[in-house]
Amino acid sequence: MVPSAAAYTLSNARLHFSLTPGFDAVFDEDGFALADLSIADGRIAAISRAAKSRVDVAGEGSDLGGRIVMPCFVDCHTHLDKGHIWPRRRNPDGSFMGALNAVAADRAANWTADDVRARMAFGLGCALAHGTKAIRTHLDSIAPQETISWPVFEELRADWKGRIVLQAACLVGIETVRDEAFFAALAKRVARAGGVLGCVTYMVPDLDQLLDRVFRAAIDHGLDLDFHADETDDVEAVSLRRIADKALEHGFEGRILAGHCCSLARQPDAEVLETLDRVARAGVAVVSLPMCNMYLQDRRQDGTTPRWRGVTLLHEMKARGIEVAVASDNTRDPFYAYGDLDMLEVYRQATRTIHFDHPVADWPATVGPTPAQIMRLPGYGMLAAGGAADFIVFRGRSWTELLSRPESDRTVVRDGRAIETRVPDYAELDVLAGKG
Ligand SMILES: [Zn+2]
Repeated sequence: MVPSAAAYTLSNARLHFSLTPGFDAVFDEDGFALADLSIADGRIAAISRAAKSRVDVAGEGSDLGGRIVMPCFVDCHTHLDKGHIWPRRRNPDGSFMGALNAVAADRAANWTADDVRARMAFGLGCALAHGTKAIRTHLDSIAPQETISWPVFEELRADWKGRIVLQAACLVGIETVRDEAFFAALAKRVARAGGVLGCVTYMVPDLDQLLDRVFRAAIDHGLDLDFHADETDDVEAVSLRRIADKALEHGFEGRILAGHCCSLARQPDAEVLETLDRVARAGVAVVSLPMCNMYLQDRRQDGTTPRWRGVTLLHEMKARGIEVAVASDNTRDPFYAYGDLDMLEVYRQATRTIHFDHPVADWPATVGPTPAQIMRLPGYGMLAAGGAADFIVFRGRSWTELLSRPESDRTVVRDGRAIETRVPDYAELDVLAGKG
């Protein structure tokens, strides 16, 4: 479907307005318009309205017949370091605490540099094959894991340069910030790696003081912030609001991303809207992790059925101008037993869970330009003349065709050329599974 020549044209590609900011066309009710994509030397030379006749398109080319073309994905919240430990450490009951304890035990027993590297590289291979170009991963950074995982991250970031842009945020519980010396050293380590300062926030009594320390460290080192906030159904969990308040108080000028924010969906409307107004004012972006939320939230141990979706209020957020994204989160570990870092799957599940449809509007931006902005990657997650020819050609020609099948036969193009899209074989991980 994609010629191997250095210069070619893909005619009748179906492009979405939210992913093609410079494309001047008349878009249909689904947000699509047909285009001719001219590629030269690994870059997009031009995006023009589809020519009426093939004669207008000169040189090498292929007619896509209206297939959807999307820019390579940006996945702004993952846990590559936890990925694929399921075969040796499962979640005993599917609960959040079950996940936390199982991961802690596995980390202590098994997370050597070799083990972390092998699983992270496997995850990167899956993401690349599915069409992802940039990933932010959290790295469990509770001592002594930070001394193991951060060097592995730096190594992999260099190895994968040109294939996947890799970012990392440290992950510790907010109570770890009480250890002033450890947290100061961690912030320094993160800064040295060009990383992002992160932690998990919940309602500890000294939350405000600890957040002050987090914000001060970020300001001192010029770091962006990334929180796991309120991943719970507890209506009392309001750490997102505290984060927004602290951002305003400190006049924080870096970027802040908050993940999960599940408890918002359980709180009274007036309280929720007040929180979101503050989040909007503070410029905090939010990423929802629909697959992991469906798995962990409202998990019941009494044989009854879950009654809510677990996801946060992206519609209300977007209406207030808050930047919103969706992302993969965990893959085959005790926090989520499934997943393969396929952002099309994430988008499909988000469509079903959060209603990214009727109308689709600009929701596709949640897997492209918006996470790219959050990760400070200008030009990523979009198709534009002059930009890199990094895109995915799907079989589907409409949203219902695209989202009804796994699209395992998609074509991923990087620097203008189709790449291998076979995902890594699970058997490669068998050697790691034997460890108890
Ligand atoms: Zn997470």
